[in-house]
Amino acid sequence: MDKVELAVYTAFKDAQKDMMIKNNSERIKTWHVSDFTSPCIRKSYYQRNFPAPYDPNKTSILFHGLILHEHTKLSHFHEVTMCYDIKEDKAYTPQEVRELENTDNIITGSLDDLMRINDEYVIVDKKTYNGYMGQYKKKEPDESYKLQLSIYRVLLDKGYGIDATRGCLLYLDKSSDFTETPMAFDLAPIEGTKTYMTDVLRQLKQGLPKANVNWLCNGENRKGKIFCPYKDRCDNDGI
Ligand code: SF4
Repeated sequence: MDKVELAVYTAFKDAQKDMMIKNNSERIKTWHVSDFTSPCIRKSYYQRNFPAPYDPNKTSILFHGLILHEHTKLSHFHEVTMCYDIKEDKAYTPQEVRELENTDNIITGSLDDLMRINDEYVIVDKKTYNGYMGQYKKKEPDESYKLQLSIYRVLLDKGYGIDATRGCLLYLDKSSDFTETPMAFDLAPIEGTKTYMTDVLRQLKQGLPKANVNWLCNGENRKGKIFCPYKDRCDNDGI
C-alpha cells in the first residue's frame, strides 16, 4: 500500500473499531440470553468468569451484524433491550440494572423487532449465514435460535405485558446479496422456558458446570475448526 492507501485503510479500521467499542460499552454486566442458549453451559460459565480477550478476527463479522441490524427496522418496537431477574420473576429496565449492586440473577436480551401480524405478536430476529454462493441453504430454524426467541418471549411478557406466541427467524445469506429466507414457528410456553432458565442459572452459579463437547470444540463443523476459546482450560479442568 502506498501512503494514501494506508491512510484510507487505517481510517476505515479506526471507524470500525470505534463502532465496536461504542457497542460493547453499552453491554450491561449481567447474563446474556446467548449464555442460556449455548450448546455448552460450561462455556457460558467461563465467559462470565474468564472473559476472552477481544478477537480482532471477529471484527468484520460483528461489523456486518451491527450495520445490518441498525439499518433494517421492521417495526416501531425495534432493537429493544430487556432485563429480567430469573429468581424474582421481575423485569427491569437497563437503566435500573445499572444501579443494582447484585446482578447475579439477571439476564439481558435485545430483541430485533416485534411485529403484529394478523392479531398476533411475532418476535423477529435476523441471522446472517454463509450459503457458499447458493451451495448451502437453510432448511429449518436452528434450535438454539428458537430457544433464544422463546426466552425473549418471557422477557417481553414480564417487561411489557405482551405475549408473543410466534417467532420468525429471517436468515440472510451474506454470500449472495443477503438473500432472505424467513422461517416462522411457535414459541415455547412461558412457564416451561422459565423452568429451563432457572435450571441453567442454578448450574451456572453452583461452580464449574459439566462439559458438553459439541461442534464448537470437536472440529465437527463445516470449517473443521475449534471455535471455543476455552478449549485448553476446559481440557485441564476435565469433563
Ligand atoms: S471446550 Fe467444549 S466442552 Fe469445553 S467449554 Fe468449550 S464448548 Fe464446552
